[in-house]
Amino acid sequence: MAKKITNKLISLPQDVSIDRVVDHPHSLEIFISCPDTDQLCPVCGSRNCVIKDSGRSLTVRHVSVAGKGSFLSFHVPRLLCKQCGASFSKRPYFVHPSMKLSATAFLAACVSLTGTHSIRDIAIDKGLPEHQVLSVLCSVEFHKPDSLPRTLCNDEFKGSYDPDSHLWNVNRYHSNISDGSN
Ligand SMILES: [Zn+2]
Repeated sequence: MAKKITNKLISLPQDVSIDRVVDHPHSLEIFISCPDTDQLCPVCGSRNCVIKDSGRSLTVRHVSVAGKGSFLSFHVPRLLCKQCGASFSKRPYFVHPSMKLSATAFLAACVSLTGTHSIRDIAIDKGLPEHQVLSVLCSVEFHKPDSLPRTLCNDEFKGSYDPDSHLWNVNRYHSNISDGSN
């Protein structure tokens, strides 16, 4: 019962075991054991996978806990697909498939990005580095709208930029296009 309350308080699934917590000056590192679940091969989708080797430790960012940024540290075994021969790390279901983020942290950043807060403010609020919030933003696909609003506003503004960046903030000036009626 105590485990379930702790897991709930720090937004972890109920089937995760918390082994220990290390309190660093600016963050918490939560060492966990992951549930042993089947993993599909990412190449062919087969369930016929076996453990190839002992794998490695992985650390990903998680949501803020008591005002501090937090990390989840856990072990990921390496699996071998007996169907197609591919080998891959077994990522837990509650971790983003490609980013070093928990799914909860990814979702929290996505929700915040729908508001009017700056990347910097979201990063501080969620205990994430700015570049990770930017990666979340870049991972969202914006489809073409079915129709355009009656009034279309277009404005340019000077924003933060990094000439060495490969992301959207490579340019000094940005553009804001919005629905002027709403
Ligand atoms: Zn396979």
